[in-house]
Parts: sequence; structure tokens; C-alpha cells
Amino acid sequence: MANPLHDALFAPLAGRTSPLMHLPGGMQITGDAFLTMTARAAHALTAAGLEPGDRVVVQAAKTPEMLAVYGGAVAAGIVFLPLNTAYTAEEVDYFVSDCGAKLVLCDAANLDALRPIAERNGAQIETLAGKAGPGSFDTLAARQPATFAPVDRGPGDLAALLYTSGTTGRSKGAMLTQTNLLSNAEVLTETWRFMADDVLLHALPVFHTHGLFVATNVTLLAGGSLIFLPGFDLDAVIEALPRATAMMGVPTFYTRLLDDPRLTRDLVGHIRLFVSGSAPLLAETHTAWEARTGHKILERYGMTETNMITSNPYDGDRRPGTVGFPLPGIELRITDPDTGAELHRGETGMIEVRGPNVFKGYWQMPEKTAAELRENGFFITGDLGVIDADGYVSIVGRQKDLIITGGYNVYPKEVELLLDEVPGVKESAVIGVPHPDFGEAVLGVLVPEAGAELDLPSIAEGLQTHIARFKQPKDLVVIDELPRNTMGKVQKAELRRRFEGRFNA
Ligand code: AMP
Repeated sequence: MANPLHDALFAPLAGRTSPLMHLPGGMQITGDAFLTMTARAAHALTAAGLEPGDRVVVQAAKTPEMLAVYGGAVAAGIVFLPLNTAYTAEEVDYFVSDCGAKLVLCDAANLDALRPIAERNGAQIETLAGKAGPGSFDTLAARQPATFAPVDRGPGDLAALLYTSGTTGRSKGAMLTQTNLLSNAEVLTETWRFMADDVLLHALPVFHTHGLFVATNVTLLAGGSLIFLPGFDLDAVIEALPRATAMMGVPTFYTRLLDDPRLTRDLVGHIRLFVSGSAPLLAETHTAWEARTGHKILERYGMTETNMITSNPYDGDRRPGTVGFPLPGIELRITDPDTGAELHRGETGMIEVRGPNVFKGYWQMPEKTAAELRENGFFITGDLGVIDADGYVSIVGRQKDLIITGGYNVYPKEVELLLDEVPGVKESAVIGVPHPDFGEAVLGVLVPEAGAELDLPSIAEGLQTHIARFKQPKDLVVIDELPRNTMGKVQKAELRRRFEGRFNA
């Protein structure tokens, strides 16, 4: 036995004296030094009492130390569960209890808020390095040996648990195996021609599949290096672009860069590939980017449960408004959302996907798993799409009414449940409407109880401790009644139409 993910991504770093990470301020971490960090993290996780299959929850700033915990978890066979740093303590409580974490790693600033949660759920809690210096976990790791013999893992063993929000309530933990992650890293490295001399500008968060798996795993597998930025800062990205050969981003990266006159053909002269995903890239952004830089952005499509599914071609026509072709080894079909029957090219329906990339199921939710993962292996994505005569896939909508704002998913139901609890609110509908910067913005539509006067600013303020900022409505509006069909279902499409100009400049 071996540990295929570790063997492919991390083991090759041994003895590498060239930088793996270029950090702000000119600091660098060599491949070998990073491997040592992962080994010490693996020992520290083990010393904390975690065994293969146990879960470690990590809600921490994007630092090399945080990423080393991912490497350490892979080596030690521990399931890595990163959380969006915007989640409130109340939200973290659910994840820690649902996954039965043995250890929670957080930023020092959140220790007081999260300690009671960890204790209540029987988990230990330690801190990770941040602005104030090393955390307690780093101190523990520093005392550990510099090498770690990876724990044997099989292809179906879990490597990570990534939570996706639920449409009808609680978030679901997508169980991702060694094979899921490794097969996708392999296929993307090949498709996008990543090599050892690639330098990827990494400004994405590492708690999400895009920054954690797509960007990081591909670079590690290729033996390339990362310009590892703590987040998307326009000045830092513009400063780093001339040194990079590739950038992966969400559409917002591209629109923000286009708004800056410093974006020129010269600035990106060293780049060979721009990739976009996680939300729809407007065709006009694609066209404007090409006009300004000479580069055609390569748009791809994927999701937490499936890793990456389709990609526009590396060579050949990258078509704006499409997400390209299914990746090698991955099957994609369009079905009738009601009957499940396969549809013909040109017909719009549910996107279903099968392949080694597709997750193992939802953590401790056999019914939800059975409802979305067919016995024949096809996963029902919830995205509606169409395949054109040339085989290009386009996403035409999201059946589940998911809102994607700045690349982050917001499920309306979660916000509606909170709004409905507000005194004086009869009912609510939360929708996504076009926004020039975020792609979509969350809009809360409220119906007051008869005679009630709603104080909108205080309702907005009341949401702040319950849900992450990106989920909080950018605006609240009051209407007399929600449009409904004869079956009593709220017609969100109609609401979207009514408010589509709300955030237009
Ligand atoms: P997540 O699980 O957070 O990665 O979100 C997955 C969802 O993002 C998918 O189900 C799609 O609805 C959406 N998505 C990802 N990439 C694209 C894309 N290139 N175009 C349109 N939607 C996308």
C-alpha cells in the first residue's frame, strides 16, 4: 500500500531547493522546506491524538502554515475540513458537531469565540500562525521530527470533507476521496499543460475547491511554484502578474482587473494561461479581456462534489459563454429534470456527471446522497445546461436557485429562514440579481404582516451575527405579496425580473 495523493503531490518536494512559494515581501519557501512543514504538521496532528479517518476542522487565514496542515493531513490519513473564514461561530458550531471533529484549528483572534464550541463538541482547539506570530499548533509542530512516514491510504479513502450549503436547510459535507482529488489534478495538469517552470498567481481562498484543489494540487503535481497571496488585493495582483505564467480566478478577479488602467498587454506578457471558474464569466468580460491583453480566458466548470467537470480547450477555440468540453475520463449528459431521461444535443436539461472525479457521497446523509447520486454513478449536479452541435457545454441556470456572489455560494433558504423569524415579517424570498462587481448580489424581498412597519437597517444588522457577510443581503425591499404559481410555489424568476436592475450602475 501507499498514499497515492501524498506520493504524487508532496513526496516529490523532497530535496527541492527551488522555491515552491513566493510570499509577499520577497520571502520564499523551498519545496523541501514546505515538505518539512507538512511532516511536522502530520506529527502534530498525530500527537494531538488524531488517527487516520479522523477530521480536523481548519478555519484560518490563508498562510503557508494553513496549507501545510492540508499536506500533513494527507500524509497522516486525516480528513481535512477547511471552512470559509467568513463563517460565524454559530455556523462553525454546526460543522464541528456534524463532522465529529477531534481538532479545531483557528486564528488566534477567534479562539475565545470558538473554544466553547470545541469544548461542547469534545474537540481540542489550537491556533495557527497569523499576524501576531506562530499559534499554539505551530509551536507543537516545531517540536516534531522533520520527516513523516506517510500512512497507507487506499484510493477510496477520504482525503477531505468540504461542506456545500444545503438548499433546504443544513449544509452537506461532500466526501472527497484520494482518487477524486488525484484524478482531477492529473487531468487538469495535462489539459492545461502545467509544467515545472509554471508560476501560478494564487490569490484564491484555500478553503474552497478552486483555490485548494484546482490551483494548489495542479501546481504541486506539475512541480511548479506559487505566488501565494493572502487574498485578492488589486495592487498585489498587479505587482505579481509580470512574474507569473498562469492565474486562476473567479470572474470578479477579471472584472476588477479590467477596471484598472494598469492592466495592459505588457503587464501580462509573461502569462501563458488565464483560467476562470466558480461562477459564470460574462461573454463581455471574455471579449474585453482579449481586447485589452490579447489573452482568451479559459473558462471551466466544476463544483465541490465533482471537482472540475469541463474545460474550454487549451488549443482551439475558447468560446465565451461556454464552459467547454467534459474533461478526459469524465462523462457528462443532459437529462430531463423530471424523468431523468437523456436528452439530445441542443436540448436544455439537468447536467449529470460520472467519473473518478465524482465524490463518494454526503457525510452521514444517505438519503441526500441517494437523491443526488444515481446507482449507475451519475451525479445530478442541479445545474441546467445544454450541449451545442460542436460539443461545447453551456450552463443556463441553476435549478436549485443557488446565488453565486463574488464566487461564493449563497442558498436562499438559509437567509429566508432567518428573515422569516424577524417580528413583523410575514414571509420572505431571497434572490440573486445581477451586480456589476459581484456577478450576482443577494437581495432580500420581504412581505410585512398586516399593519407592520419594517425597520430595514435594523433587520440587516440583526443578520450580522448569524451568517457570513457574503450571505447577508446587499439590500432589502418590501412588497405586498410574493408571486406564486397555482401549486403555491414562489415564482423567483418573476422576482428576479422585477428587481434585475436594482444594482446596475
Ligand atoms: P461550488 O461547489 O462552490 O464550487 O459551486 C459549484 C457551482 O458553481 C456549480 O454547480 C455551478 O452552478 C457554478 N459554477 C461553477 N463554475 C461555473 C462556470 N464556469 N459557469 C457557471 N457556473 C459555474
